[in-house]
Amino acid sequence: MKFPSASLLLAALSLAACDSKVATTGETATSSATVEAVDPAAAETSGTKATAADEANAVPAPDPSTIPAASAGNAAAILARPQVPILCYHQIRDWTARDSKGAKDYIVPIAAFKAQIKMLADSGYHTVSPDQLYAYMTTGAKLPSKPIMLTFDDTDLDQFTIARPTLDQYGYKAMYFVMTVSLGRPHYMTKAMVKQLSDEGNVIGSHTWDHHNVKKYQGKDWETQIDKPTKTLEEITGKKITYFAYPFGLWNPQAFPELKKRGFVAAFSLAEKRDQNDPLFTIRRIIASGYWSPKTLRNNIVQSF
Ligand SMILES: [Zn+2]
Repeated sequence: MKFPSASLLLAALSLAACDSKVATTGETATSSATVEAVDPAAAETSGTKATAADEANAVPAPDPSTIPAASAGNAAAILARPQVPILCYHQIRDWTARDSKGAKDYIVPIAAFKAQIKMLADSGYHTVSPDQLYAYMTTGAKLPSKPIMLTFDDTDLDQFTIARPTLDQYGYKAMYFVMTVSLGRPHYMTKAMVKQLSDEGNVIGSHTWDHHNVKKYQGKDWETQIDKPTKTLEEITGKKITYFAYPFGLWNPQAFPELKKRGFVAAFSLAEKRDQNDPLFTIRRIIASGYWSPKTLRNNIVQSF
């Protein structure tokens, strides 16, 4: 497959980040119906440093590779367990006149983001790691109370400069799905930032080289989009990369064996229904929209999972 030139690519990437995938997920109705003004005052962080980290750490998760294949393969048991809410963020920055209406679902203004995270802490949510989630899904392993997983896609710089310190205030950890083509480019994270996130207890996941749709891969695309970028992330973090997020949330069942044979143990999509035979490779997330007030986010967490 041919790849576009750098400038075209950047344009494509901005479009990719603002992809209209959300329109097919069933989330749009909720998101547009529940648009609310963001109250900047609510964004002030209080001194409520949550015990999230302490409590989450009190529930250690086994290494996924130690969990029997039979547990990971028991789709019925996995589907029967209540889903853990998982939020997906992209850009965290204030809107500009150039941002389209649709893009604003993917761009959460800084005050709105801080207010959303504060709401999670004030509501007693505890962030969990993907290994904790995996152990819970496959074996029913215990999770902290009100578990939630926070994920950040596409390598945007503000995930390091804004999200990271905000989450730190509450002892929260997150999962970052990195698209490697962007590393070190303006407005994106550097390799050193990704390593720091990993060193600080966050988990790095694979999100392809340049955000091409997994459903269209053929031949060398698996190498270009999955093998090489995943190896890059393993070199950066010094850790095995075992979690994947589909660009645009798009997947097909043909992708599952390809991901499994490359060592992935689970993959994340968006709000669409899970695959009934392979729920571990279609773990649901909702995009926390830039339009959502903390209250709207809380309602959507409860309704969607
Ligand atoms: Zn993405």
